[in-house]
Amino acid sequence: MSESYDLVVIGAGSGGVRASRFAADRGASVLIIESTYLGGTCINAGCIPKKLLSYAAHYRNDFSDAEGFGYDPHPATFRWPRLIAAKDKEIARLNEVYARILREAGVTLMRGHARIADAHTVMVGKEHIKARSILVATGSRALKPPIPGAELGITSDDAFHLETLPDRILILGAGYIAVEFASIFHGLGANTTLMFRGEAMLRAFDHDIACHLAEAMAEKGVVIKPSMSIARLARNSHCLEATLSDGSTLMVDCVMFATGRVPNTIDLGLEQAGVELGINGAVKVNDRYQSSVPSIYAIGDVIDRMQLTPVALREGMTLADELFGEGLLKTSYENVPTAVFSHPNVGSVGLGEKQAIMAGHTVRIFKSTFTALRHTLSGNSEKTFMKIVVDAISDVVLGVHMCGPDAGEVIQGFAVALNCGARKSDFDRTLGIHPTLAEEFVTMRASN
Ligand SMILES: Cc1cc2nc3c(=O)[nH]c(=O)nc-3n(C[C@H](O)[C@H](O)[C@H](O)COP(=O)(O)OP(=O)(O)OC[C@H]3O[C@@H](n4cnc5c(N)ncnc54)[C@H](O)[C@@H]3O)c2cc1C
Repeated sequence: MSESYDLVVIGAGSGGVRASRFAADRGASVLIIESTYLGGTCINAGCIPKKLLSYAAHYRNDFSDAEGFGYDPHPATFRWPRLIAAKDKEIARLNEVYARILREAGVTLMRGHARIADAHTVMVGKEHIKARSILVATGSRALKPPIPGAELGITSDDAFHLETLPDRILILGAGYIAVEFASIFHGLGANTTLMFRGEAMLRAFDHDIACHLAEAMAEKGVVIKPSMSIARLARNSHCLEATLSDGSTLMVDCVMFATGRVPNTIDLGLEQAGVELGINGAVKVNDRYQSSVPSIYAIGDVIDRMQLTPVALREGMTLADELFGEGLLKTSYENVPTAVFSHPNVGSVGLGEKQAIMAGHTVRIFKSTFTALRHTLSGNSEKTFMKIVVDAISDVVLGVHMCGPDAGEVIQGFAVALNCGARKSDFDRTLGIHPTLAEEFVTMRASN
């Protein structure tokens, strides 16, 4: 006999778990199905393990900065297996936390690979489960480029489980995952090359910010090779040999592809059920997250709007409230703040300068490059860069961008200001907290 639920959720990642809890809180009977680990990409192979590794990578700089403050640090020894074991232990704890959260919310958890049989039926193995509504929250997966020898390279999924830290690593990609891993491996001591086909990295970000970061990373020692790609990969007796697009070769111990992620829609039975997919396999949904089959919904990376955890969480809450609550919640895709946990960090909210101009604004630009107080003694040559993009006619602040320590922490607060429609005059009448980096955002007066 098959069970029946108000909502069957496929995928217990960021979006699926949040939608399940919210739906159950509003009285719905909910089943969630997960084929691997609870918590999805963010917990197991994304935000959390990445940030833990990024913290580890910062220590190398911190040890050398400490000398300027009177410390005589002993030569520090780094053990990759110890870091990976500590990270795995924390993730196992978080997997348990997710199981408890679901249990306490009254959501039923089923393990296995789910397939949609029809508009109201999901199958796990031979089991048929009936659902009034089905939610696809299956996330995305990393892609390797179609080059000979690509199977010799790894993706970010594998990077979290390497047995040893490579001496030399080549990372292919220009997006935030490529940039973050370049900083992580370099910070931990690997000889790191970051390569991308285009002229600039982080193309979705303000150009000045991306350029400042590229210079800062290069100054720290990351070898950055723009306008270049890998033609083929081969293994010789002691390393990997990458033949590059200009015909030269590079010998490394590891090649990591961070060349994009695609929605996870294979082997889900979506097309047979009549669900329309976009060119890259994303589930096409309307503004209520409803697919072309009215009882089947989708949220998160699988709809490919903004592949970020807070976006998936908010979409899950909005949908659950729409289906089982008062329908008051909304997801706004404007002024979504983001961070890149590169070294130094990037934080950004709103429009970059070019984006603002392309959107029809006449802009006033405020920029500042300076040495953080900490580095007056540390001897570290790192500079902090900040930029504000303002609509010249209305004085409304369109974008706030930073490349420097804890940029994500700084920008989160400015995202609230932008959502409140802050003007540059509001920034100007706000007093700074002295001495901080963030105070620079309220003291920039001359436009460039
Ligand atoms: C290396 C990396 C770093 C990242 N860093 C950040 C960051 O710093 N900040 C940020 O906001 N975002 C970050 N992201 C993005 C973030 O992880 C995703 O946007 C977020 O996890 C998407 O949530 P989701 O619910 O859509 O999918 P996911 O969290 O991926 O969950 C999907 C779940 O569905 C399961 N599943 C798939 N198919 C089936 C099936 N047929 N049956 C049953 N279960 C199935 C999967 O096993 C998975 O658990 C990062 C991503 C990566 C890869």
